[in-house]
Formats: sequence, C-alpha cells, structure tokens
Amino acid sequence: MARPEILQIAPMLPVVTDQIAKLFTVHRFWEVADKEAWLAENGSRIRGVAAGGHSPINETLLGKLPSLEIVAAFGVGYDQIDAKWAGNNGIVVTNTPDVLTDEVADLTIGLLISTVRRIPAAERHLRDGKWPSGAFQLTSSLRDRKIGILGLGRIGKAIAKRLQAFGLPISYYGRHKQDGVEYAYVADPVELARQVDVLISVIPGGKATEKTIGAAVFEALGPDGIFLNVGRGTVVDEAALIDALKSNKIQAAGLDVYADEPNVPAELMALENTVLLPHVASGTVHTRNAMGQLVVDNLVSWFDGRGAVTPVAETAEVARTKGS
Ligand code: NDP
Repeated sequence: MARPEILQIAPMLPVVTDQIAKLFTVHRFWEVADKEAWLAENGSRIRGVAAGGHSPINETLLGKLPSLEIVAAFGVGYDQIDAKWAGNNGIVVTNTPDVLTDEVADLTIGLLISTVRRIPAAERHLRDGKWPSGAFQLTSSLRDRKIGILGLGRIGKAIAKRLQAFGLPISYYGRHKQDGVEYAYVADPVELARQVDVLISVIPGGKATEKTIGAAVFEALGPDGIFLNVGRGTVVDEAALIDALKSNKIQAAGLDVYADEPNVPAELMALENTVLLPHVASGTVHTRNAMGQLVVDNLVSWFDGRGAVTPVAETAEVARTKGS
C-alpha cells in the first residue's frame, strides 16, 4: 500500500523528522513558496499533518485537505488548531500531554522564586561589579504567602504538589470544582486573587479564555501580589498587567508566555519588577524529545489502525469511532 502522505507544517526535532521520513511521504510545508497552488495540486493526497510552531491550523487550511485523518500536534496547548472544526469534520487532533507536566512545573517553581527573590536582578548586581560598593537590596519572601492556581489541571496539580512541600496553602480556580482535590476551590478568578498573594495561571489559550485575567484580578491581588503566567499569554490583558506593574498595584510578575509571541511589549521589558522568559517551560532536550516521540507515536498508531494515543477532547469521539 502507498505510504501515507504527511504535511509537516514547520521544522521539528530530529526525533520526529527522522522517524516520519522512514514511514511516510513527508512534505515540508514551510519551504513551499506558493502554498495555495501547492495545496490545490497536492492537498487531496494528504492524510496526516505534523504540527509544530504557532501558525494557525484552521478551516482555511484543513478545508483544503479533504483526505485528512489526523493532525498530530507538538505541545499540550493546541489553541492554534481549530479542534472543534476538525472534530466536526471527522479529523482527529492529538497533542502531547503528561510528558511535559513535571518539566513545566519545575520551571514554574524556578520562575516563582526568581520573581519573589529577584534572582536575575541579584545576579546582575554581582556581574555589574556593584557588590563591593553595596549589598543587594532585601527582597520580598515566599514565607507566609498563600498560593492561588488558575487552572488546576495536569500542570497545575504538579505545581501545587511542589508548593505543598514549601508549606504554602493552596487554592484554585477552574470552571469546575474537582472531586477528590484537597485544595480549596474558588469559583471566581477575582475572588481567588483577593484571597491569595501569589496567583499562578496555567489556563489554556483560545477564544474561551481570552483576557480572563485583567484589571479587576490585579486590583484584587493587591500591592504585595505576585502574578505568574506559564499557560498562555492570551489569557491575560497585557495592557492591564503593564498598568498594574507600573503603578505598583501588584508587586511583580514572572512570565513565560505572551499575547503575541515572540513579540514582548517593550514596556514589560523596561520594568524592574518583571522576570521574563521566552516560552521555555518545557524546553529541555529530555522533554522536547519525549513530546516529539508522542507526535510520532500518534501518527504511527493511527496509520497502523490502532487509533490515536492522545486525542484532544474535541475530537475524542472521532478517535473512538474511526480509530481502529
Ligand atoms: P489540562 O487540560 O490538564 O488543565 C487545564 C486546566 O485549565 C484545567 O484544570 C481546566 O479546569 C482549566 N480550564 C480549561 N479551560 C478553562 C476555561 N475556559 N476557564 C477557566 N479554566 C479553564 O492542561 P495542562 O495542565 O496539561 O496544560 C495547561 C496549559 O499549559 C496548556 O493548555 C498550555 O497552554 C500551557 N502550557 C504551557 C507551556 C509553556 O511552555 N509555558 C508548556 C505546556 C503547557 P476546568 O475544566 O475545571 O475549567
């Protein structure tokens, strides 16, 4: 039988490209100059998409791939993919959950301590040769703080587990109160912000969560408040965050994600009370390889007739009915 044809949207790690090259006919879409003409000529033969990067995978593209069965995405967040449209049109979307959970949680703890204890600024103080003329200023502390987690999913729980070991009380917000979870549930993000002084967002992106965290949340968090975002930048009203940081309505922010990556507002970069990372929470060789392997596993399992390994919720029904 002919090898399934796969459209690879963006460059991916060798763990992905080496394996799929052996099993499938792979087309490197980012190298195609005239994408419309290419899709008109070849789109009907494409049965799988390997999706890395942030370019939108929506009806405009998917509608030109009438034989498409599966979109295997690299990453647990898949807000760049119109999974609902895919599900309604018999296409399975898969992501890479679980394999990155601990890595992202570890980085979040690092970002939290960096933000509260101002580790990057302290290091700059030393490197700039300022130590001999004066000790680095005292910072705020994690002691006596209360933690609020927005989005207590796989990653949120892994962060909470680590913070429990720090002896800090934890509460959370999500659309649902979760059974069997010992942390206090708060049904409204503003109310959660009022009750805690560290707020960590791990909520997924997409239309449903756009600007969920805005001026009212920062106002409620208050002048001692620390805000962290390791979920998606679009969840935050960035202008409101900048205003809150500039006017000391909150104390500091630690961010790994932004509304318009890789563009980070100059105003955020100019502020002393921010620690800014370039979306690196899962960015280790170990974990990125595990994510890549799961992309391959999904494609291989699907085209072997064994179904998708990790279909997203919006396409779970398609995966169940068509997957084997
Ligand atoms: P999960 O699906 O396990 O958890 C998501 C959580 O968010 C759930 O607790 C859910 O609770 C809550 N949630 C979902 N939708 C909404 C909504 N509309 N409003 C409020 N809460 C909502 O995902 P993971 O923990 O595995 O990953 C979370 C996100 O982290 C990813 O979607 C991704 O965007 C981001 N991420 C970032 C990385 C980075 O490099 N910075 C790396 C990996 C992930 P409920 O259903 O009760 O609302």
